[in-house]
Amino acid sequence: MAPYSRVLLKLSGETFADESTAISPTIVGSVADQLVEVSALGTEIGVVVGGGNILRGASLSATGMDRSSADHMGMLATVINALALQDACEKRGVNTRVQSAVAMQELAEPYIRRRAVRHLEKKRIVIFAAGLGAPYFSTDTAAAQRALEIDAEAILKGTKVDGVYDADPAVDPSATKYDRLSYLQVLADELKVMDATAISLCMDNQLPIIVFNMMTEGNIRRAVEREPIGTLVERAEDDDGQSRAG
Ligand code: UDP
Repeated sequence: MAPYSRVLLKLSGETFADESTAISPTIVGSVADQLVEVSALGTEIGVVVGGGNILRGASLSATGMDRSSADHMGMLATVINALALQDACEKRGVNTRVQSAVAMQELAEPYIRRRAVRHLEKKRIVIFAAGLGAPYFSTDTAAAQRALEIDAEAILKGTKVDGVYDADPAVDPSATKYDRLSYLQVLADELKVMDATAISLCMDNQLPIIVFNMMTEGNIRRAVEREPIGTLVERAEDDDGQSRAG
């Protein structure tokens, strides 16, 4: 099968962090290296970046802060990550644009769907920052929303584990990885793929999600080339739910 021609890559903020720093230049650099590789294939890439390496609104509001204010701070965190990724990509010679859902014209373009699509057609990587610009949402939901708006063929959800497991593999050595899951199975079993709002949006619009380990070099390319890595979440033809690796 031909590689995807347009994808939306969702990067959680924590993929940028290591033990000592919230934004590791080494990790961001290696993500950018992978994006350069995929861009060279001709695949158009939109990226939604999270902010959880810096802060999450829900955690901050649990300490007493107003939830909307905390979420505004969370959105700003995603902008910080977006600028870091933009810098790393541009240093490697790939043209990028950051589009923010919250107006900050000195730093980023506003989010304008048609303009984003035009950038993609010109093979610029478009980094979507500030989520959906509204509190009580996550960047997972923003990823689903933006993927639909730009007509991406799939969401590539880059994580630090190999896919979706039936238990935490760090705690339970018998944990089994799913090769494939249906949206309904993810929702019913509350599997940690993306939050329920995001999964529902993907399910309603039959947008496939590939959850994979992006710390392994070359994995973004493998996902784009449709190699069976990680876990694929899609509509099950017979809606039987799932199949697991042996
Ligand atoms: N956020 C928000 N609205 C959005 C997207 C994000 O309010 O549309 C805030 C929210 O506080 C969230 C934070 O931004 O906790 C960082 O995003 P997220 O937790 O999704 O980042 P990730 O877990 O992917 O690193």
